[in-house]
Amino acid sequence: MKKIIIIGGGIAGLSAGIFAQKNGFESVILEKNHNLGGECTGWDRQGYHVDGCIHWLVGTKQGTPINDLWVTVGALGGVKIFHPESFLAFEHDGVTVHFYRDLDRLRSSWLELSPEDKDIIEDFCQTIKKLQSYETPVEKPEDLMTLMERIRLMISLKDAGAAMQKYGKISSKDYSNNFKHPALQAALSSFLPEGYSASFIFFALAAFTKGQASIPYGGSKALAMRMVERYLSLGGAIEAPCEAVELAISHKKVQHVTCHNGKTFEADYVIAACDAHVLYERLLKGKYPDHDFQMRYSNPADYPLASQILVALGYEGTVGTLPRSLSFQVVPFEIHQSTISRLTITHYRHEPAFAPEGHTLITCSINQFYADYEAWDALSRDYEAYNREKERIGKEVLQAIETRFPRMKGKLKVLDVATPKTYERYCNAYRGAFMPFFPTVRGKMMAHTGRIKELDNLLLTGQWLQPPGGLPVAAITGKDTIMRLCIQEKKPFVNC
Ligand SMILES: Cc1cc2nc3c(=O)[nH]c(=O)nc-3n(C[C@H](O)[C@H](O)[C@H](O)COP(=O)(O)OP(=O)(O)OC[C@H]3O[C@@H](n4cnc5c(N)ncnc54)[C@H](O)[C@@H]3O)c2cc1C
Repeated sequence: MKKIIIIGGGIAGLSAGIFAQKNGFESVILEKNHNLGGECTGWDRQGYHVDGCIHWLVGTKQGTPINDLWVTVGALGGVKIFHPESFLAFEHDGVTVHFYRDLDRLRSSWLELSPEDKDIIEDFCQTIKKLQSYETPVEKPEDLMTLMERIRLMISLKDAGAAMQKYGKISSKDYSNNFKHPALQAALSSFLPEGYSASFIFFALAAFTKGQASIPYGGSKALAMRMVERYLSLGGAIEAPCEAVELAISHKKVQHVTCHNGKTFEADYVIAACDAHVLYERLLKGKYPDHDFQMRYSNPADYPLASQILVALGYEGTVGTLPRSLSFQVVPFEIHQSTISRLTITHYRHEPAFAPEGHTLITCSINQFYADYEAWDALSRDYEAYNREKERIGKEVLQAIETRFPRMKGKLKVLDVATPKTYERYCNAYRGAFMPFFPTVRGKMMAHTGRIKELDNLLLTGQWLQPPGGLPVAAITGKDTIMRLCIQEKKPFVNC
């Protein structure tokens, strides 16, 4: 039986492990943390459970290929799904724009708000409706397809291709200028960070409005733990905590992997299901550079990486009819060089077990980019100053929520503040990034095979192989990597 070492027990590593076991390999996952799941996690604070990941999961609609994959890896089978009423409610100067799941309701609420935007609203909704037929390709990666399979894929992606053609090179800000109403304009221009391609708005809302991007009950950590159970039930082995720190390479092969605790592991194949930068720079010491990755790392303007500050708050009360995710204007405050003038909060009313009885978990995410990471990196060298800044930001967020919701005054407490350095420390995430290079109007989309030039038995897998990343890409690429190994081993791939 051929052996595989999998470095990293996030969703990609678990998916690779599950398919490795199903396909007659013997595998071991080496994970640097005590817990598996990587960025798909949650943690307990002061009687609350802070969900650290899933705001939406593509693949929640039964009978679709991506849902079948989630069921196969144990993430979703039999799990109840929560379908929020809206993706986001966006307040602007006394008006609220709702991104409802019910597309007809979205359309009529927007028309009521701005009859003069009728044409563009109709066009917006029609594009979303058309894209509802789009399904994330799951069966096999393009490099393993025959010519006929590629042609069939291109035909099936006709509507998606047309949307990419039309909106792929327009930023969400430029697209928003098509609307006359200031609240619609603001809602669409803030939907994504500056420079990001507007096409993503349509794909996200198409998936959401057809029930394909909802939330599994139990949250992120429970989903990851179900995958761990599936992996172990198939005979997989786990070493954790066990951080891979060195690869011994000779004769174009990784001969063994050494971990921080001195343990060494030998195998026929090594799959790096960790951050791509960790593989290329730390483990391969820059000796096997990859042109596609180098180009992106050295051009952060066109290939931005987003991280975030996550403020988790406990609320001693229930939130009533408050939309699940709400973006609202706040009295501006500073974080490093940036002025924060609006916040987006999410509550977990649908998960009563995430809070003590009668209380509610609320989280607030603040996007962080290149300069923010630099500032956090510098600050983190002074432990006390770093903690003071986290505390200050927690207080600013708490006060902003109390100002917006006076009934919450005195009933909120900050549970935790995570920064880009938290993601870097916990997952070895490059610059704290929680998603890989996001599609922008200037960047080129990248689908990478994960093969490392000049090394025959090492493959990269995970969200970094395919934009826009996220959990589905992690699960898909984990599976795809095992498909590649089955081909290399000249054996049929077992999918279910
Ligand atoms: C706050 C937040 C919100 C998110 N929201 C969503 C969402 O709503 N929907 C969605 O689809 N996606 C979301 N994502 C993104 C999603 O979590 C990631 O895309 C996905 O989890 C990536 O999985 P991965 O296995 O590729 O990588 P990771 O999760 O980064 O896993 C890599 C694993 O490798 C381990 N590791 C690293 N280096 C080593 C080493 N040297 N040795 C051993 N182990 C190592 C890490 O500890 C980690 O466990 C979110 C992410 C964050 C942080």
